[in-house]
Amino acid sequence: MKALVTGGAGFIGSHLVDGLLGRGHSVTVVDDLSTGVCDNLAHLQPDEPLEVIVDSVLNESLVDELVAGADVIFHLAAAVGVQWVLDHPIRSLETNLRGTEVVLAAADRHRRKVLVASTSEVYGKNDSGPLREDDDRILGSSKVSRWLYATAKAADEALALAYAQERGLPTVVVRFFNTIGPRQTGRYGMVVPRFVDQALSDEPITVYGDGQQTRCFTYVGDVVRSVITLTETPACWGDVFNVGRDREISMDGLAQLVVDLTGSRSKIVHVPYDEAYRGGFEDMRRRVPDVSRLRRTIGYAPDTGLEEALFRIIAAHPRQPSTFRVP
Ligand code: UDP
Repeated sequence: MKALVTGGAGFIGSHLVDGLLGRGHSVTVVDDLSTGVCDNLAHLQPDEPLEVIVDSVLNESLVDELVAGADVIFHLAAAVGVQWVLDHPIRSLETNLRGTEVVLAAADRHRRKVLVASTSEVYGKNDSGPLREDDDRILGSSKVSRWLYATAKAADEALALAYAQERGLPTVVVRFFNTIGPRQTGRYGMVVPRFVDQALSDEPITVYGDGQQTRCFTYVGDVVRSVITLTETPACWGDVFNVGRDREISMDGLAQLVVDLTGSRSKIVHVPYDEAYRGGFEDMRRRVPDVSRLRRTIGYAPDTGLEEALFRIIAAHPRQPSTFRVP
């Protein structure tokens, strides 16, 4: 099979490329390196069936050509990270809205299967948890970049589903919940790489707010496995799937776990939200996926434990701890 991975130099994208190559597929990556980096693919051997094109998904003629040459498209190119979205609102809206439009229109012309990556952000501040795919989305003002981002991703989802419904195009939407693993950078705000970096340099670990907000963290290898299996499962087309693990931890709990695992001397400090992000930022207290649809459809849901995932992240980090507790 020939796969096209948009955003393939990003964190999840590069792990997806590993997974596809490992299954014997050939892969073309298109990435504009806005947040992705070539280093994420540098471990791959030159004789692998991999082509990397540095360009934007907004380049319609290129996308048309690449889609024509692929059997399946994994559309992961998107603005990522709360911090990046807050810093680049125009670019994130453009990439997310126009980019998905371009990819879906090309897939429709060439009748190709498409997986569109979305995010748990679309649920907004619905923190009633465990969130099911058909649950209500609760959003604040469109002046808050976070909700605008959620709106753009929801529009992407709607377009993918419309192509399935109206044109019979095999499309599937996946909503990623707090995915973690090696190669994820803390530069765009993500909490786990930030805490690990801080712990491994014995710097204060910055827990935002009161630290009682919870998230569910999913190991990237499990996410990749789910995503590839979905595109091999005809029952998935025209539907939306939460992809995540449903075990919750508070940010205080996460900070302590990272300290324990690394043997760090870091202190855990609390930083008020208005110091951490610019004004008007809203966080959600809780975000838990209901993964029963995923489990029912592919017979599997992510299951790597948080300690194991953190262990792999710490083991891959350039700065190694002096003591290391193996889970
Ligand atoms: N967070 C934190 N310290 C940091 C970065 C993030 O306490 O240095 C918090 C953030 O406010 C949120 C949680 O960790 O409550 C998860 O943040 P992230 O940006 O990783 O993901 P998302 O908010 O999209 O779930």
